[in-house]
Amino acid sequence: MNQNPAFLDFRNVQKSYDQRTLVVKNFNLSVRQGEFVTLLGPSGSGKSTVLMMLAGFESVTAGDIMLAGKSIAHVAPYKRDIGMVFQSYALFPHMTLEENLAYPLRLRKEPADKIREAVQRHLEMVELGAFGKRTPAQLSGGQRQRVALARALIFSPRLVLMDEPLGALDKKLREQMQLEITRLHKQLGFTVIYVTHDQTEALTMSDRIAVFNNGIVQQCDVPEALYERPGNGFVADFIGENNFLPGKVEGVDGDTVRVRISSGDVVTTRRADATETGAACNVSVRPEKLFILPNEHPFDTQLTATFTTQLYVGDFIRYFFALPDGTEIVVKTLNDVSAPKLTEGQSVRLAALSKDCAAFLPHKSAH
Ligand code: ADP
Ligand code: MG
Repeated sequence: MNQNPAFLDFRNVQKSYDQRTLVVKNFNLSVRQGEFVTLLGPSGSGKSTVLMMLAGFESVTAGDIMLAGKSIAHVAPYKRDIGMVFQSYALFPHMTLEENLAYPLRLRKEPADKIREAVQRHLEMVELGAFGKRTPAQLSGGQRQRVALARALIFSPRLVLMDEPLGALDKKLREQMQLEITRLHKQLGFTVIYVTHDQTEALTMSDRIAVFNNGIVQQCDVPEALYERPGNGFVADFIGENNFLPGKVEGVDGDTVRVRISSGDVVTTRRADATETGAACNVSVRPEKLFILPNEHPFDTQLTATFTTQLYVGDFIRYFFALPDGTEIVVKTLNDVSAPKLTEGQSVRLAALSKDCAAFLPHKSAH
């Protein structure tokens, strides 16, 4: 018997809205109590559908969802004890913030003095202690989203769902709110299922991330593993930035794969999903994992390339090169005194560690 059952368990969950196409396919995910798990993927990949089934606003076509060891398939949404923050989850416009926050507790028939105390404590928690008598129209977008967060937490739910809650905010405010949400999560210990299409947001906030595409989880792991060791070309493309150099598998040696890339160089890569000798593949290597070598150097993966142009992006520089067959490759370095000074047409050696390269089967671009 399992001594430590998952707090939340999706078991082979499927969803079809039209009885023909599955928008969520064989979704399996076990979430520990207190974990912050993000569903990350492009628009239309099925993330919100998973949240809607979990919240109880959509039925499950097949499979089951277990919460604290019990199926919630036939539990009404309001009895699931789940807090929710959505981008468009409007506050009641005619109510003050105090009334908005009190609402979930009134529904639960909590006594008036307890409601008053909880409302004030939660307003202070999101730094809106002096704003209780205002209405939502008298707040900025970021403040409104903080009220929505407080309202989702005020009845102390075990589980909080957030669907692109920061999508409408500008970059600075979004980063502040990301910190705010992770701080509250750590402090209060509730479990979070978070949905976003923003990979930076997912990488910075989550304990674990499930990457979705076309209703299928491509990979589910901790942020570092997704970034450093993506399992297929879609994940390598969707998360962070990557070069993809077309090539053909020459041979497999244990955990490494040798690939002849289209320019003729043979590179050694980490073993990923392209493992058949002769298979067409793409070698990935991230721009910041490549080094520009002025001279010969004992790196295990090297390429000859011609410098074409560069782009200043403030704290770093992006260098563009062409391989002998014209394939473009990007290198990113810190914009410090060590940044090389290159002239157009200059030939250089580029180098990387083979563990930072991978050979993937061809995939459709994630963008
Ligand atoms: P995401 O949140 O990842 O953008 P969704 O879960 O909203 O994706 O949508 C997944 C797929 O299901 C899309 O093709 C979308 O058009 C479809 N879909 C979503 N909601 C409905 C609905 N209520 N009725 C029919 N199709 C829907
Ligand atoms: Mg969505």
